[in-house]
Amino acid sequence: MNELDSELVRGQLTSLGYQMVEEDTAAQVVLYNTCSVRELAEQKAMSRVGAVAARKRAGEQVILGVLGCMAERDGVDLMRRHPQVDILCGPAELDKLPQLIDNVRRAQIAEAQALTDVDVGALRAGRGRGVALAGNSSRRSATLSAAEDGLESLDLSRAFDPGAREQPWSAYVRITRGCNKFCSYCVVPYTRGAEVHRPPDNIVEECRQLADAGAVEITLLGQTVNHYRYTHGTAMTVAGREAPQIGPGLRAFRGDAAPVARTTTFADLLRRIHEEVPSLARIRFVTSYPRDFGLDVLEVMRDSPRICRYLHAPAQSGSDAVLARMNRGYTIAEYEEFVARTFAILPDATLAGDFIVGFPGETEADFEATCSLVRRLPFKNNFIFKYSPRPGTVAIDRFTDDVPDDVKRWRNNTLLAIQTETSARVHASWVGRDVPVLFDSVRGRASSAARAEPGTVALRVEGQSIAAPAPVTWQVAGRTMGDLIVSVAADSEASARALLGQQRVVRLESAHALLLNGQIVQ
Ligand code: SAH
Ligand code: SF4
Repeated sequence: MNELDSELVRGQLTSLGYQMVEEDTAAQVVLYNTCSVRELAEQKAMSRVGAVAARKRAGEQVILGVLGCMAERDGVDLMRRHPQVDILCGPAELDKLPQLIDNVRRAQIAEAQALTDVDVGALRAGRGRGVALAGNSSRRSATLSAAEDGLESLDLSRAFDPGAREQPWSAYVRITRGCNKFCSYCVVPYTRGAEVHRPPDNIVEECRQLADAGAVEITLLGQTVNHYRYTHGTAMTVAGREAPQIGPGLRAFRGDAAPVARTTTFADLLRRIHEEVPSLARIRFVTSYPRDFGLDVLEVMRDSPRICRYLHAPAQSGSDAVLARMNRGYTIAEYEEFVARTFAILPDATLAGDFIVGFPGETEADFEATCSLVRRLPFKNNFIFKYSPRPGTVAIDRFTDDVPDDVKRWRNNTLLAIQTETSARVHASWVGRDVPVLFDSVRGRASSAARAEPGTVALRVEGQSIAAPAPVTWQVAGRTMGDLIVSVAADSEASARALLGQQRVVRLESAHALLLNGQIVQ
């Protein structure tokens, strides 16, 4: 989500004439897009902001902006700690960024030319700053703001130019913004606001334009992506087009909701993209919420060969007691039932997820239940996080962060080791198959002869030691439709690079915990 936000901001500013530079020291405007999900991410962002603030204190003329969740969650305090911050812009306000930069720039020019102390005083007092935060009003006024065109037009006006992305063959498309789930540990519903669903026509159009500009893979994004549901024929339209709308709420997934006007469900949306954008080789989606994952979605996946059979569906814990305190809304039996149903319909699916260890009150037995789940289910990988108490969340108010940090660390490492064994098993089960692989990275490695002295081979010439470039073996790596990493040997760097962005059939020959090796057969 953050990567897409950064790409959209870059595209928007580039189209207005701003130029991107390699080093932040060469920039006149420095913007940090931040994440608040865990404290560590905030600390990293804070230290970078602090470094630019120090340069400004030393007299450097630069506009400093903090974007994203940290601006929304902690912005005012951040400005207090670093008064050199000129711009705060929350994730739901990014369409306003050019205006904010412009205001600050004008204020700085005015300050430089200021004639009266009174004007300068006003500017210093903060009038020359740009602040756009949704604040607490964001959830209350969600219906109205959803229908406003601002943020939607940021998605729609993206730079379709392939140069806008690091991997031009792959692109993200947001289908919902925000989240209504309120897991007790999570800041996202507060920083990104209420769940808003984009009109399907806009999503399909965006996919089509990205495909026309060379994207072969599109990843649809949402915090609980399978909750996507758009009700047609509601009053909110902008200039004759359907507008984004807030989600129907979880009742829509319980089966007791009254029949409503025509809706586009997540399954309908997937089918539309698959049918209407045939040049896309791959359609993926993240992140799935393990409950409310309908049979209709699995059936569309089964019937649509270009939809990746890959589910990133975080379990978060293997203990029902912890899941209840997390307010996740499902039990482990329900999670396992969802996984069994998935593999019954899509036998070649792959499963991945996230876990939090050291949640308040997590006992040895709770943690053992998590380990047991990771041993039992075929997770190809899991991201594992130590619980990080976040200000403003229910968990920080209601529960004591009572698992000591060394225990959290031990549980994290233990679970990672179990995951490594599970990953190795999943990878091994794929050996012998021929599968499409989309190549996305090239790696050169000193061959074994040179490995004794990395990067160089020592040649002895008349008693002198001369360093010569090492012989290198080239590998090109990519991902299967199920997001398994596959590495293939290449003759040269050029032949490896020629495969980037290409999808080829690879025979999988051997497996490790992290990847598979194979050979191109088609
Ligand atoms: N919407 C997605 C995930 C969003 S955040 C989902 O529900 O699956 C990504 C991951 O960060 C979460 O899955 C969770 O594992 C982790 N996370 C979120 N808040 C956290 C916190 N306070 N401490 C530790 N990990 C957290
Ligand atoms: Fe956070 Fe839960 Fe929403 Fe995911 S579903 S973003 S973890 S509140």
